Amino acid sequence: MNQKIEFSQLSIEIEETDSQVVYYFSGDVNENFNQSDVPLISRSRIVLDLKGVENFNSCGIREWIYFIRSLTGKGSIFFRNCSIATVDQINMIPDSLGGASIESFYAPYFCQEHGESIQLIEVEKNRDDLMHLVAPKFKCSECGKDLEFDALEESYFMFITQGSEEKKVS
Ligand SMILES: [Zn+2]
Repeated sequence: MNQKIEFSQLSIEIEETDSQVVYYFSGDVNENFNQSDVPLISRSRIVLDLKGVENFNSCGIREWIYFIRSLTGKGSIFFRNCSIATVDQINMIPDSLGGASIESFYAPYFCQEHGESIQLIEVEKNRDDLMHLVAPKFKCSECGKDLEFDALEESYFMFITQGSEEKKVS
């Protein structure tokens, strides 16, 4: 069963199967987002696909934190394909992650010759690098040379290292 909820600058598409529900977020999480309009669906896996999230503002993030809290207990929550805006947001306000686990996220890289290149990082596959604040290696799709990471590892990957510390304690 699929359904779509529209706010003025944000749309959320919900895709359900027997074992999992995926919420696809697309647009801006701002004052137009009203989390109580979004159905809370219990499944063993609850995935938030955040590839399309472009922006958060402070009103939006408050709603977002309520939304993640409301989902807590309804299944294991995973953030997938986190956009760069989402990563920045979680690094700034760790509560935005709640008890969710990060499956994958985008990161900025660049090639000296071919410019900016956004890469998707799978957390499980790259956990060792990430825990040591080392950017996983990618090659430029045009010239095959190694891309350079275009952010500060210790601040960009902070949400990964902190998340796991919290989980160890609890
Ligand atoms: Zn290149």
